[in-house]
Amino acid sequence: MEKGKILDVSGVSAGYGQIQVIWDCTLDVLSKETVLLLGPNGAGKTTLLKTIAGVIRASSGNVHFNGNDVTKLPVHTRAKMGLVFISETSLYPSMTVRENLYMSSLHCSSPFAGRLQAVYALFPDLRRLEKERASSLSGGQRKMLIIARAVISEPSLLVVDEPSSGLSPLFTERVMSLLSRLKGMGIPALVSEQNVEFLSLADRAFVMDHGRIVHSGTPEEVARSNLLGNAYFGV
Ligand code: ATP
Repeated sequence: MEKGKILDVSGVSAGYGQIQVIWDCTLDVLSKETVLLLGPNGAGKTTLLKTIAGVIRASSGNVHFNGNDVTKLPVHTRAKMGLVFISETSLYPSMTVRENLYMSSLHCSSPFAGRLQAVYALFPDLRRLEKERASSLSGGQRKMLIIARAVISEPSLLVVDEPSSGLSPLFTERVMSLLSRLKGMGIPALVSEQNVEFLSLADRAFVMDHGRIVHSGTPEEVARSNLLGNAYFGV
């Protein structure tokens, strides 16, 4: 594996039961990079991220993380290694904000109190909401908590599935500014999105359509590419 490559996904195919959904997907993330996986509804972005995280198994191909072949490792083992997957289902609804953050830090060696203060500095709204149950938060607040849970677990790589889904434009902007701050902290991320505005955050982007990676390049190259039009509008 190339030096500085934190994630190397090679020829991965996967699906659900007998139904294959993604074919021969290859992508990589270098250290400190934010990489965008862009594509329309149903392109297979979530399925690819789940395969990278270990939620579902690849039927062929390999996933290397920090130089280790993790293709056959379960999701919790990959998470302990620092490959942290952020999806809509990443919360304990009946626990408070603080308890949710605590649950994400159980495996960390440094004291919880210090990491909690660092996360509250990054997400000031969560300090105010710390005694609220996760189930009582708004969609945007829940998204903040999901990202905060990932950050407090000291990830080596954040894998974020559609951070803007279900959010108002205002909250989408806030999530984008948060991701950009995480990027400033040097935390590498692979982010899936339908929203092309997220190209502004990315160092590189991959375009997915009908279960395949159909293009990759710099955000400028991808924005100029006809393939983006093909994937989104079939033109
Ligand atoms: P969206 O932006 O709508 O979430 P996506 O690009 O993330 O789309 P996926 O969610 O990976 O796409 O879905 C790709 C295909 O896999 C779709 O045709 C979808 O219907 C199918 N699919 C997703 N989840 C399952 C499942 N649990 N069982 C069977 N098929 C599924």
